[in-house]
This record gives sequence, C-alpha cells and structure tokens, in this order.
Amino acid sequence: MFWQQEMETLDRPALDALQLKRLRETVRRLERVPFYRGKFLETGLKPEEINSAADLRRLPFTTAADLRENYPDGLLAVSRDEVLRLHTSSGTTGKPKALFFSRRDVDTAAELIARAFCMTGVTRRDVFQNMMTYGLFTGGLVMHYGAEKVGCMVIPAGPGTSERQLLLMQDFGTTVIHITPSYAFYFADFLEKKGIDPRRDLALRKAFVGAEPYTEETKRKIEAALGIDVYNSYGLTEMNGPGVAFDCEGKCGMHVWEDNFVLEIVNPATGAPVGDGEPGELVLTSINREAMPLLRYRTRDLTSIIPGPCACGRTHRRIHRITGRSDDMLIVRGVNIFPQQIERVLMSIPQVGRNYLILLEGLDEMTVKVELSPSGFDGQVGHLTELQNEVVEKLRAELSVRPKVELVASGSLPVTEGKAKRVIDKRSL
Ligand code: ADP
Ligand code: ZN
Repeated sequence: MFWQQEMETLDRPALDALQLKRLRETVRRLERVPFYRGKFLETGLKPEEINSAADLRRLPFTTAADLRENYPDGLLAVSRDEVLRLHTSSGTTGKPKALFFSRRDVDTAAELIARAFCMTGVTRRDVFQNMMTYGLFTGGLVMHYGAEKVGCMVIPAGPGTSERQLLLMQDFGTTVIHITPSYAFYFADFLEKKGIDPRRDLALRKAFVGAEPYTEETKRKIEAALGIDVYNSYGLTEMNGPGVAFDCEGKCGMHVWEDNFVLEIVNPATGAPVGDGEPGELVLTSINREAMPLLRYRTRDLTSIIPGPCACGRTHRRIHRITGRSDDMLIVRGVNIFPQQIERVLMSIPQVGRNYLILLEGLDEMTVKVELSPSGFDGQVGHLTELQNEVVEKLRAELSVRPKVELVASGSLPVTEGKAKRVIDKRSL
C-alpha cells in the first residue's frame, strides 16, 4: 500500500534529478544563514556549481556542536514569522538542539509518517496509540500528525502508566502502538504479570519501535512477547524527528525518503565516503525543509546501505538497523565495545529477561546487571549459577573482555520514561 506511490517508486534518474534540484534550492536558501554563508565563502562554492551528487562532498559537514553553538536560532533560514513550531532533541547526549518547522515543514513531516504507516499496512480503520513522550520530543507530535493524515483514530497516550495504557488498549481496541524498545519490554513484562495474553485479550497487531538502538534479537523478543509485528522507525530531531527511515512490510531494512534527505555513509574518523554496503556513520542533508535545513549533518549513527532493490517496489534506498552511535563506544581495558554487542548476547539467552544495565566502575571494571525473565527461571540456586556462568562466557566470547554478571529479579532495574539509559560510567580513570 502506498501513500504517494509515484514519489515512492520514482526511478533512480528522476530521483537523482529531484535531489539535485532540491539540493541547489537548499544551498541557495542557506546563503541567508550566516553560519553557512561563512562556510560557502571559505570553500568558494556557489549553488549553481552543484551539478551532481558528487559535488555534495564539496559542501561542509554540520555537527551537533554547530547546532549547540548556534543555539537558539542561529541556523534559522526563514523569518521568525514563518515559524510554526519548535522541537528540541531529547538531550540524550548533552544540551538540547533546537529545530524549527515552517507550516510546510510540519505538513511534509506528517506526509513522510503517512507514507511509513501505509507501507506497513496501516489504514484509517486502525487505532493508533502513541506511547511516546509528547511535548518537545518529536516522537509525540510528529508521529501524531502523520497518523491523523492517514485517518487512524489516534490516542495521544504519551508514556503514561502501564495500567492506563492497558485500559486504553482494552477499551478502544488499539491495533498499532509507537513505543521505545525498552518500554515495549517493560510493558510485555507488565502484561505477563497481570496474566494478560495480548494475542487473546488485545487487538494489537503492530508496533513502531524506535528512538533508541536495538538489536534484531530484541525485535524478535518483542514480537514474540506481544504477538505483533515490529517495524523499525528511525529519525532524529535535526531531520524532522521520526519518519526519516522506516521498515516496509518486508521488514528488511529501512527505506530512507530520498526525495527529502540525501544519504551518505562516511568513515566516522575521517569523514571520507565508505564503499557501497560498508558500515559507517550516517550523514543526512535535508533537502525539502524551509525553516532549518541542514547540510551533511553528522548523525553519529552507525549503519550501512543495503544494496539492491526492495521487493515492495519502492526505489528509495534502505539502511540496516542502527548498530549504535559512534560516540556510544566504550573502551574497557583497551577494547572497543558497543552496548549493542552486549544486548545481542543477552537477548539470545532465553532465561534472560528484558532489562539490563552496564556499569563501569573503579579502574576499569565492567559489571552487567541482567534481569531474569519473569517465567524463565525455576528458582533453583544451582541453575542460577549455571546461568550466570553462561552469560559471562558468552559475553567474553563476543567482547574479548570478561565482565562481572549480576542476575537480578525481573522488574528490579530502573525503567526510564522515554529513552533508556543503559550505561553508567563511574570510572576513576
Ligand atoms: P537525542 O540525540 O537527544 O537522543 P533525538 O530525540 O533527536 O535526540 O534522537 C535521535 C536519535 O535517536 C538518533 O540519532 C538515534 O541515535 C536514535 N534513534 C532514533 N530512532 C532509532 C532507531 N530506530 N534505531 C536506533 N536508534 C534510533
Ligand atoms: Zn521495501
């Protein structure tokens, strides 16, 4: 099912031409922004000299630090009168970054969400419960407006309490939810403890899961626990929020809406482009925004392009699920470790529950606290030790570092509203 079939299936030459046209318009628009004007003067580049995608590389990168230095409105490309809405990033990694929307930007962002909903088979007959934080965080309102465009009945639940979420689901027949992976796990545990079988007792069919990195194993666990299809939903405030890239019905990588975003993958250390299909940092240029377009924005998110066409017929290229942020990397005893590696191991062990925490302390000690699954453990102490050793061994094999492992009761680790905090670093290095 398509929302804008022609645009979603545009052939490559037409898509390239559209990108070029919009890129030029964007560069012209950005000549009004002192920050970019300065950069263009440095490189001596003129918009009319941009003739191909390769010329994009002559444009400067924009970084999160640039956004912070130009906070609050140094990167605004329209007059204040034309701004309709403000969002800020959730600030997972420091001071918030502000993003402005014009009327057209608000509408475009909703259109991209509507495309995503349709490509996963959602229709106006669905009931959409948005369990993400509303307010400044884009996951609330941007998703909300997109769902309304499709014509779903929208329940703006916000993160709320699980009791209330459940009541809404039961009373109004929720079929689709938008949720973080950590909350999805927590909610699945909650249902299990209440003796509710979502397959039997609820109308849930799909979940849009995003806002933080999660592994394929986690996705499968959420699908099994809730009896639903999980679609990966990727976005960031700097590029509208959600709706930048989304799984189609095939769940085989996320289509990036290339009529709105120019996609590059670069080596995070050097900024040089990597070969097709190779992993690196995602760099995005918003080419269809009015209020605050950004050139070659360093997302810090690590992924790769999936080569080849998709069975769904969409021509917009796909990216793999995000494996982490380049600034997420932990160095423990000289070894580079990504939290997602730990998650992948933990989620492959059935007796392990759904929440975990990585604790770094002392000189260079790593402890992984892991919840047991509510039903997967028989209470015998001997089995507990066996499981603990198994987790240690599997983590050691994956990381080449032997962590301490503490098994804790299901539901005993903290759950945050919004994005999970998985790493606590108290090292005195
Ligand atoms: P913050 O950078 O403060 O978290 P945002 O709320 O804008 O601000 O979050 C965007 C970031 O969230 C992305 O850059 C990415 O790291 C992460 N993210 C969003 N969706 C996904 C997803 N589906 N998979 C992995 N990471 C995601
Ligand atoms: Zn597809």
